[in-house]
Formats: sequence, C-alpha cells, structure tokens
Amino acid sequence: MGAVEVFQHLKNECKQNPLFFKGTDRQILLYSTGPKEAAEKFLYTNRPILGSSMKVNLGMGYGYKTKVMYGAAAKLSGFEACPHRTEACTAGCLSIKSGNITFHFVGTILKIWAYKFHREAFTTKVMNELRSFNFGADTDGYGRAVRMNGTTDILFTEIWKLAQEMDIMCYEYTKVAKWMKKRDGVHRTFSISESGLMTGIRMVCEGKTASIIVPGRKKDYSRACEWFTANEIPWVDGDRHDLCFLDTGKLRVLKAKSLKDSPMIWTIEKLKGEEKRAWYREDCISAWKEET
Ligand code: SF4
Repeated sequence: MGAVEVFQHLKNECKQNPLFFKGTDRQILLYSTGPKEAAEKFLYTNRPILGSSMKVNLGMGYGYKTKVMYGAAAKLSGFEACPHRTEACTAGCLSIKSGNITFHFVGTILKIWAYKFHREAFTTKVMNELRSFNFGADTDGYGRAVRMNGTTDILFTEIWKLAQEMDIMCYEYTKVAKWMKKRDGVHRTFSISESGLMTGIRMVCEGKTASIIVPGRKKDYSRACEWFTANEIPWVDGDRHDLCFLDTGKLRVLKAKSLKDSPMIWTIEKLKGEEKRAWYREDCISAWKEET
C-alpha cells in the first residue's frame, strides 16, 4: 500500500470505529482529503514528535536525558522507513501492537508523513522541541541525547546536524552496515538480525558498536553471555540503559522481551552454529580489511 491507500484505509476504519481512535487522530483523518493534508494538520496540533520511554529514561542514571521519536516502522505509512529490514525484525516490530495498524499506529504514521511531505515544517517542529528539551542543560547536570529512529531506520541528516550544534548527542541503531562508516557525528549501533552476526562482531573488533538479542530466560541468557566471554567478544548488558554511545567497541546484549520464538533471538545453539565459521578476533579483523 502507498501512503494514499494507507490514508484511505485509516479513514474508513475511523468512520466505522471512531471510538478506537484518539480524538486528534480522528479529527485529522476525518477532515483531511489525503496523507499530505493529514500530515499538515498533525503538525498544527500540539502533539509532540519526540517522546520518551522507560528504556531511554534509564539513561538518567547515567547522566543523560533522552528524547526519542517513534515513527511508523517498515512500510506501515506507505513509505519504506527501514531499507534493510529483515522478515523477522519486521514481524517483531509490527507484532508489538496486535497486528491491527488502524488505531495503534496512527500517530507514528502521521509523523512519517509529516517528515516526507513537509520536511521543513517537520524539522522546525523537532528543533523547537529539542530547544525546549535542552533548556536547563547548563545547570541541571544532565547531558542531552536524541534518538530519531526509535522504530525506523532513516537518515535524519539535517536534524542531526542542528541537534549537534546544540550539543545534543545523536545516536541510532541501524541495520544498514554501510551507514556505520558515516562520519557525521552520529553514534551508530549495528543491529544484528537473524543473520549478520559476523558483520556485527567485525564491527565490534573495529571499535564500533553492535547489538544482539539473546533469550530472556536467565539460564539461556547466561549461556549466551558465557559464549561471548569465552570467545573474547567485548560485550555489555544492553538493557541497563539505551545510551549506546557509552558502549563504543562493545557488543550490546539485549534480552528478548516481547519477541517469542523469533529467528532474531540468538540462542546458544545458534551461536555455536557460527563457530564453524572463522570469525575469531584476528580472522575477523583481516576479513573485515579484505572486504573494505
Ligand atoms: S527492527 Fe528496526 S529495521 Fe526492523 S522493522 Fe523494526 S525498526 Fe525497522
């Protein structure tokens, strides 16, 4: 579905089940003729583009306040927001909310439409929110950080540049390996999916950051972590906070929480399956150099 079809679908659902939609979402959809107009109306509301979450709030214990944007993942909005997504990661991202895009995802979809159709106004609104967020940074003792891709994988080049001018740390997770080489001041963590372990380990060997999902069950989690230790892969508990830029040169190990039986979860059996491949420290560095 393209953006127009997504809009029509949402509008029809909204007419049939108006109570399922938030008041402003309902008004925006019912009184707009297409996604561009809906996005414009969204930008006029006082609904913020940036938000927070329990995970990013953990960063306060490590000296940072963080804002995050949750935009519509994959192609939910009609625009592809995750160019290198995999089948399993897409299923994991979209299954978080019961599979029905209609009312759960409207806010996230409107943000992506605003970014696509009204880039300048979108950027201005984000910057105003960041200015307000940054207020008091000189005196309250907290650094400031922003993650634009809470649930997307988009290059927000202009926003990152302006945010850094305000001394706001920009960090992202990405599945696009070549973006890890960008020198734009944004800290990136390569997100390992159901495949890509080798690529992630190589990046860690190169002093970059990667993340991996392992089983949440205590025993299985420990076995996976023991495997990283035994293979001299520098790893850290990625669930203690979301501030990936504090974990440069490390593999951030994340527990599978909402994911169940996903190929994205690296069990000890799956990790051991990779042992057949030559990825030990020296090997992976030389392989990495050969490739680049
Ligand atoms: S896991 Fe990342 S790349 Fe995959 S669908 Fe979700 S946000 Fe997009």
